[in-house]
This record gives sequence, structure tokens and C-alpha cells, in this order.
Amino acid sequence: MKWLWRFASQEQALWKETIKARFGMENKWTTYMPTQPYGTGVWRSIRSQWIKFANNCKIKVGNGGKTLFWEHVWAGQETLKKKYPDLFNLSLQKVSTIREMRDNQGWDLRFRRHLNDWEINRVADLLNTLEQYKDLTPNEDNLFWLPDKQDRFSVGSAYKTSQRSVSQSSGWPWKMIWKVKVPFKVACFTWLLAKQATLTQDNLMKRGRQFCSWCSFCECEIETINHLFLHCRETVKLWHIFINLRGISWTMPRSIKEALACWNRDRNQSGHRER
Ligand SMILES: [Zn+2]
Repeated sequence: MKWLWRFASQEQALWKETIKARFGMENKWTTYMPTQPYGTGVWRSIRSQWIKFANNCKIKVGNGGKTLFWEHVWAGQETLKKKYPDLFNLSLQKVSTIREMRDNQGWDLRFRRHLNDWEINRVADLLNTLEQYKDLTPNEDNLFWLPDKQDRFSVGSAYKTSQRSVSQSSGWPWKMIWKVKVPFKVACFTWLLAKQATLTQDNLMKRGRQFCSWCSFCECEIETINHLFLHCRETVKLWHIFINLRGISWTMPRSIKEALACWNRDRNQSGHRER
């Protein structure tokens, strides 16, 4: 990501000009994805991070020369293409920059046919949105790196952002395990359960141990973590005691991870936690 930032923010660096010439510019800030099979691996792997990188950036418009009017996020929280898809469809300037669409007289919006009444209202709405962004400056457009307070890219903030997105996307409940006040050994054991890594018979068999894999409590089902700790009829009795003590009702989740999520919701609603 560091190189994507450098590519987007350094002007006239020789290395950048070389890459630009080789792959071509896609959207003013980066190149097209390399398609050639040989000799492009390094830039291809850098370029493949672009979407993640761009999601954490915002454009600060200067003279508007590097900001695509419809495609980039610069007025509000989303692209104008997304906010006004009907007008984008009619536009003759789908890949124009702000500078190309703005002169001293105002915005120069061109459409491929005369507008209907309701479309005129939409254009009025668009112009209203644009009103607060009308002042261009002589400076080049710049990127802000949103995760950093100073808007400057740093490898540390990029790492933290990527870690956060991994943990959010996987729904991994690490906070529910490590950020609550329980004895350390309980947290460790819960962690192992959530990772499906405790030595239940199914896991032991995966490691080559030979067992009759039936649950030793009920002898009805295979001993998996989710069965032993959630669904076994003997375990369910314990759960009922716990649930009755707390005066709550719930459907037994399918997995330990879902159970942790239920606890978390329950804790947020009742304001405290018991285990
Ligand atoms: Zn059982």
C-alpha cells in the first residue's frame, strides 16, 4: 500500500513515469491492472491492493484535474454516479474530471438529450449539492489517508486497518474472549473452543488417534466441540439451569462462535455479564 500511496502522491518521479508508461493510467490515481503474464508480478501484487487502499482514502480537491466528476468520492460520502445514477446515464461526460466540467461561469453539465421535467429537478438537486464544492484552488488534487489523524499514509496505520477489516470480515469474536473479566484459563479455554481446537474425539481422530467417536455422555452423536458444549442432551441440562438463572430465553446457537455472539448481545442488553 505504501507504493500505491507514493504512486498517487508523488509527481513526476521517474519510477512512476515508467510504470505509467508501461500499464497506462486507469483513474488518475493508479494504473490499469497488469495483464501481461511475465515481468509484471511485483506491480501486479501492489496494484491488487488498490481497492482496499482506495476505500481508506478521500480526495481533497484542489484544481480538480485528478478527480473524476462522476466516479470519485469528493462531494459527500458516495460517488455522484451512485447518488444520481439517472443523470450519470444521460451524461456525455462520464469520465471527465472536475476541472473539465467547471469553468468561471459555473458547472458545464452536458446530457445526451433534452431533459424531462423531473430530470430538471434532479439536476437542480445535483447543482445544489455542488454549490458547497464550487471553489477550485490552484493546487493539485490530493489524497487523504483517512485512518491517520494527519491524513498522511503510514505503514502502521495501514496494518492496523487491514487487521481490523480481517477481524470484522471473519466475525472473529476476540473481544468477547479476551476483553472480559474472567480468569485467564477460562479465556484460554473459550479461545480454544471458538477455534474448534480442543481435544474432542473428532479432533483427536483427525490427528490419527483411533476411537469410537461417540459422545461419552449420550452415546448418540459424534463428539464434536459444538455437540459436547452446546447440543448434547446432558450439556443442555446445564444450559437450562444457566438460562433459567438469568431469566432469559434463547434458541441454542449452532456453534460456539454464535453462542459467544449471543452472550455479547445479552450482556449489552442487561449491562453485566456472568459466566
Ligand atoms: Zn452427547
